[in-house]
Amino acid sequence: YQGWQLSQRPSGEPTEQCFTWVTGECPTPKQGELLLRTEYLSLDPYMRGRMDDSESYAPPVPLGDVMVGGTVSQVVHSTVAGFEEGDWVLSQGGWQNYSLAKPEEVVKLDHALAHPSYALGILGMPGFTAYMGLTDIGKPQAGETLVVAAATGPVGATVGQLAKRFGCHVVGVAGGAEKCRHAVEVLGFDHCIDHHTEDFEQRLASVCPKGIDIYFENVGGKVFDAVFPRLNPRARVPVCGAVSYYNHAELADGPDKTPYILTQLIKKRILLQGFIIFADYADHYSDFLSVMTPWVENGEIHYREQVIKGLDQAPAALNKVLRGENFGKVVIKLS
Ligand code: NDP
Repeated sequence: YQGWQLSQRPSGEPTEQCFTWVTGECPTPKQGELLLRTEYLSLDPYMRGRMDDSESYAPPVPLGDVMVGGTVSQVVHSTVAGFEEGDWVLSQGGWQNYSLAKPEEVVKLDHALAHPSYALGILGMPGFTAYMGLTDIGKPQAGETLVVAAATGPVGATVGQLAKRFGCHVVGVAGGAEKCRHAVEVLGFDHCIDHHTEDFEQRLASVCPKGIDIYFENVGGKVFDAVFPRLNPRARVPVCGAVSYYNHAELADGPDKTPYILTQLIKKRILLQGFIIFADYADHYSDFLSVMTPWVENGEIHYREQVIKGLDQAPAALNKVLRGENFGKVVIKLS
């Protein structure tokens, strides 16, 4: 058995001291439990929030507990009818190579899946987030302009490709020339602007000549600042995430923009709505899968994955996701 426990709460970016590598005996399943071996572990920005002891939609990981995380795992021992050794499941196995689960905590995956790890990305939580946030809150209409940042990540890449299918003018924001090229040439976005460039705000404005109707919010910070004044009347802003703040120990000082933002919300009748994917939309997951699976299988929706080998790499790899040093959905492949 190997795993990563949370040993210290971070202030800013997580350091090595925040995690402890533990080894020992494999857990033994009680009657009614499954013993699972992790094949893939998903790394996601929300994990940073779970390391803090602050009020949120989900409780923090207690110190001394294994870090949380979605996994694609294989059943190695079953005490439950309907599950057999060798079955693939989507589970919340966490940052460890073996875990226990009750049958109601896992979703069985088809044996024939060409890419089991996609259940952690395009066909799992991030893809579902993109789909529901865009269709239910963004409500895209042909001819409208949509902006999405973290444009090559699993959420942003899916939002932009879906919005193109709805006939939108799609503008991505990403970190660096290579990611921007990918968004345009592979994902089919109309434009993608590098947020590291000095004239970012002007460049964003120049590719949104008719203003912005949908801003799919993934990052906050300077992207939000650049987008907000350009939102059109009756714009919609699905507030999905704000990754640029996740490593901030304190809120930044500076002029409080709340009065300006609230006034604009009223004057332009902008809809700004947050959502937590499974809390709000769990009932839609099977509909989502029946729409998205064929698109992914026949290549109509492109999906980029970055597979990192070895559970020992998880802490460093999570920091890379939060810094933007990932390119595509990051999963850890356990050996
Ligand atoms: P990504 O794999 O896209 O990783 C995060 C990306 O954010 C980085 O790669 C980086 O991309 C970008 N980024 C980081 N810091 C900054 C910054 N300061 N300014 C601009 N961009 C930055 O993540 P996901 O696709 O998995 O998730 C995207 C967002 O969706 C996150 O905020 C996440 O928390 C949220 N989310 C919300 C859910 C919900 O239920 N509400 C569910 C799932 C995800 P780049 O280098 O291109 O800038």
